[in-house]
Parts: sequence; C-alpha cells; structure tokens
Amino acid sequence: MAGGRDPSVALSTNAHLLRWVEKMARLTKPAAVHWVDGSQEEYDALCGQMVRGGTFIKLNEELWPGCYYARSDPGDVARVEDRTFICSLSKEAAGPTNNWEDPFVMKRRLKQLFDGAMRGRTMYVLPFSMGPVGSPLSQIGVQLTDSPYVVVNTRIMARIGLPVLAEIDKGDKRVVPCMHTLGAPLAPGQADVPWPCNPEKYVVHFPETRQIWSFGSGYGGNALLGKKCFALRIASNIARDEGWMAEHMLILGVENPKGEKTYVTAAFPSACGKTNFAMLIPPAGFEGWKVWTVGDDIAWLKPDAEGRLRAINPEAGFFGVAPGTSAKTNPNAMAALSRNTIFTNVALTPEGGVWWEGMTDEPPAECLDWRGNRWTPELAKETGAKAAHPNARFTAPAAQCPTIDPAWEAPEGVPISAIVFGGRRAATVPLVYQAFNWTAGVYMGATTGSETTAAAGGAVGRVRRDPMAMLPFCGYHMGDYFRHWIRMQRDLSETPRVFHVNWFRKGADGRFLWPGFGDNMRVLKWIVDRVRGRAIGRETPIGWSPRFEDIEWTGLDFPREQFDRLQACDRTAWRAEVLGHEELFIDLHSRLPPEMVYERELLICRLQSE
Ligand code: GDP
Ligand code: PGA
Ligand code: MN
Repeated sequence: MAGGRDPSVALSTNAHLLRWVEKMARLTKPAAVHWVDGSQEEYDALCGQMVRGGTFIKLNEELWPGCYYARSDPGDVARVEDRTFICSLSKEAAGPTNNWEDPFVMKRRLKQLFDGAMRGRTMYVLPFSMGPVGSPLSQIGVQLTDSPYVVVNTRIMARIGLPVLAEIDKGDKRVVPCMHTLGAPLAPGQADVPWPCNPEKYVVHFPETRQIWSFGSGYGGNALLGKKCFALRIASNIARDEGWMAEHMLILGVENPKGEKTYVTAAFPSACGKTNFAMLIPPAGFEGWKVWTVGDDIAWLKPDAEGRLRAINPEAGFFGVAPGTSAKTNPNAMAALSRNTIFTNVALTPEGGVWWEGMTDEPPAECLDWRGNRWTPELAKETGAKAAHPNARFTAPAAQCPTIDPAWEAPEGVPISAIVFGGRRAATVPLVYQAFNWTAGVYMGATTGSETTAAAGGAVGRVRRDPMAMLPFCGYHMGDYFRHWIRMQRDLSETPRVFHVNWFRKGADGRFLWPGFGDNMRVLKWIVDRVRGRAIGRETPIGWSPRFEDIEWTGLDFPREQFDRLQACDRTAWRAEVLGHEELFIDLHSRLPPEMVYERELLICRLQSE
C-alpha cells in the first residue's frame, strides 16, 4: 500500500465502532480488512488495483485526465425498487408505498446471506459524512463494503476518511451503520469478474435502529449507501423525529444583475431534470443574471433560530445521468465531468474516451457499447441498440462545477425562498404555476405525477404519483410524511413559496412545447419575481399562473399561442387528474392528514365553478 500504512490497522479508537467492525468481519469472513483514510494515494491505489482486475479502464489521460471507465453487469444497471425494503417494527409505519418485511425475519435472512459473503475479498471500513464535516446539519455513517468501486465513488460523492473518524472518535454523534456486500464471495483460486454482483438483491432499511443492509448490487443507488439509502430513506426518519426535512431536491441560487441572491430548491423524480436545472446557464437576454449550484439531488432543510428554512447539500459530488448531457444542454456538467470522473455504462471510444447518446451531434464512427460490444451508427440504425445504457452515469466532484456556489459548503446552509415541484408530463400539467399557500403547496407536491424513467427497473413512460419525488425514497408512511410537511410551517417565520413546473408537455405532433434547459431561466425568473413580490399571478383553478407578458422573452421568439397551450389548464383533464390524486389518497387513507382531503375538495370546487 502506498504511504507504507498497514490498512488493516484500525484508524479509530471508538470501542463501539471497533466491536461492530469485528463482529461484521466474523459474519462476512473477508480475506482482509482495510480502514479507508480517504487520501489521494489510497484512491489512486484502489483505482490502479481495479484497472489490473478489469473493473476499471483508465481513460486517455490527455483527453480525460484522472478519469476511469466501468461497465456494470447487464443485470445491475439501476436502482431496484422492488427489492428495496423499509423494515419498521410495524408494517403500518412503513406505509403502503414501501415494501415491508418483519425486521426480525429480514435480519435473519440477511445474516444468512451475509454469512461468508465477503470470502476472498477485502472488507473496506468506509467512514463518511453526509454534509460538511462538523456542520450541525451533517450526519455520519460508516459503510462496510467489499466493493472498491463503492469506496472510490463514495470519495467523490461524500466526505470520507480521517476527518470523519476524528468526528466519530469524539463520540457524541450518531453513526449510522451501513452494511454492503456484492454477494459474490471468491473460493480459493477462483478468478474474479469485472463487475461482481449477485442476481438476488436486497436494499434494506431498519428505520428504528437507523441501519442499512444492502446485498447483491454494486450499482450507485443500491450500493453507495450514503446517497439514497441514508441521505433520504433513513434521514427522512431522523428528520421527522427531529423537526427537519430530508428531500430529493436540487438547490440553486439565482443572482440578478443587482447582485441580489435568491435560493430555490426543486424536487423532480429521478431522470427528470434536477442536475440540468441545478446547473442552468441563463440564455441570451439575461445578461447579468447568474445561477449558482449548491446541490443537484438531495437537500437537508432545517429552520434556523430566526425561523428561516436553511438547506445544505449532504453530498460532495454529482452522480448524474450521462445520456443527453452535452456542451449544448449542460456545459457546466460537461466541465464538472471533464476530469477526475468515474463513468459507468457509457460507451468507450477507440481513442480511450467516452461517448453517450446526445453528447455530440455526430456519433463516433465506432465504439464499444456499455456491454463491450462493437457499436457503429449504422448498426444502431438497424437494431436500435444504444451505445450507452439510458441510465449510464458519471460520478464527478461537485467542486469542479464552474457554477458551484461560494456558499455550497457553508455549515449553516443557505436560506430557501422557494420550493419547486415537477414531473415529466406529456399532457395536462402546465409549464409553471404557484400554489395559493403552504398547505396548498404541500397538496401540490403530494399529488405530483410523473412518467417513469430508466433510473429504476420496470416499465418506462407510465404516469405514477410520485409525492415530492420521494415515492422510492420516503422511509416511512407517506401520510405521516405529508403531515410532517404541514407541521413544518409552525417552525417557520416565513414559509417558502411553492411552485410546480413541467418542462415536458408535448403538442399534438408529439414534440416538446417548451425548449427547456437554459430557457427554464424564464420560468425561474418569474418564480423569483413572485417570491420578491414583483410579478403578477393570474388566478386559475390550480394556482397562480403567469400571463404571457409576465415572462421575460428577450432572446427567444416564442409564439403567444404556444405559451397559451403550455399554460392551459383543461378542466376535463384536471378532473381526471384529481381522480388520480384520490387513488393515492385511498391507499394512504389511514394516515392521510385531513388538510389533504380538504385541499382536494377545494380544488374540485374550483375546477367546477366557471
Ligand atoms: P435528474 O436525474 O433529475 O438529475 O435529471 P437530469 O438533469 O440528469 O435529466 C434527465 C433527462 O432529462 C436528461 O436526458 C435531460 O437531457 C432531460 N432534461 C433535463 N432538463 C430538461 C428540459 O428542460 N427539457 C427537456 N426536454 N429535457 C430535459
Ligand atoms: P437519480 O438516482 O436518478 O435520482 O439521480 C440515482 C441513483 O439511481 O442512485
Ligand atoms: Mn441527477
């Protein structure tokens, strides 16, 4: 090992941690234990080891400095929602939107699966902090994993190693134990494969004891346990108990030409535009405006002493969807991923570079696709085969984003003035509208629907209710979660204004009605103007809506009648939409807050009156 350190020597004096590591090593029976210090030397050594083992390919240093390329097992490409469990003591506490199993039964099954699961591999002890180390809003975890891929990805996605161990050794902070194995033990002499995993998968959360156990997958959301498992599913439980919020939200700051800054969070389901919105570049006509990036996926929000809602990004990197990311659509992401980045399931070019659909107008003449097969544009025309998997990802350090906000690591977080909900909807839902008040805003978020994407296994393109974009991530009963949202108002001196957006409405020709991306600035400006009391809203049955003249159109020739189609609130379609709300509410009825039923009735009345 570089640096001469013996990685098996414990780097902590915390008796609790030491005992747990020992106990888990006895269970999983690894060939070695490695305490992760988080250094660059250690990172380089692990990457080198994975290059030799075939998990990583080092990309061309001239083109992609410090970058690595991985292909997953074809059966391990996305989060596995049907294998994700919330094992609370009672089934009712997990609610109907989560898979549940009795925690004692599940623990027994997991112990059997984990027994000897790390044979022939190294067990890494990976301490991590979600949020800047030492921030009052941060939380600490330790992941035990037999995947070096997980270790190096987590070094980009979170703060890891010695500074976190120093926090743990102080002994006054909760440490969330996270168990992870690929479930692919090696017999003596058995050769390894590039992407070990197990066809059987479990992603299991024990909310009461704040524990995570993940078996069988090496893929992002299933294996980087600090991310969706901890920062959303377990953290949502902690947040409910402690009076804060763990949300599936990007955080951005809008700066106007006067230097006035307004922070906004936005909750969109996976693969519905969070990363793009967080890194928006204002279009022509917005000289002097700037959008700053604080986070692109997860926000932890807490009222401060003055009752202002403040947010931190608990992550340190971007685990972004590669396909569709280009110098045109998201130059900031392209800059962030230009170096020191790990690519998974994109295509590999003959020059040792990467490519994915939508990255450039012209595809490469040939490349190896995400399965390692030869791919050419001609072959693709015949077979429709994609070079990159639709859920191919980049893991890039947030600090490399050109628009990273100067306050992105501020321990106290940034003050939030607006919350935006959104989904992917071809019909019915307007480009933008504003909720009448906080409770109506909670209803708006609670009833948001979106078409399913490739970010999770299962059918793509089906509209499902995805409350606050948290359907796969809320670690307890969704009805209690709505109640928590409503209750948050009590601790706030001023509630953020709540909005809904839809970049994905289509016309009769099946094309998007809205250009999206940078032009979303026009919508964002109206949102900021509303927050600052500077813009007019027209009352519609579903909320306040901008008129054509309330939007800044400089630099875009956009027909008024197309805007009218984008903003149209069709009462018949909305009555059908409200039936969809009712379906969700019927599922949640035992714990649904009465405010939600009341808001629904108000909405029905407004849709009926002319
Ligand atoms: P995330 O998973 O929520 O972070 O979503 P991304 O920002 O990675 O975007 C997911 C997909 O939606 C990509 O294919 C993007 O190109 C696409 N997308 C993002 N923003 C827009 C937009 O404003 N309009 C359209 N039409 N597509 C968008
Ligand atoms: P995302 O989820 O699609 O919301 O970015 C990442 C993941 O699958 O872990
Ligand atoms: Mn994203």
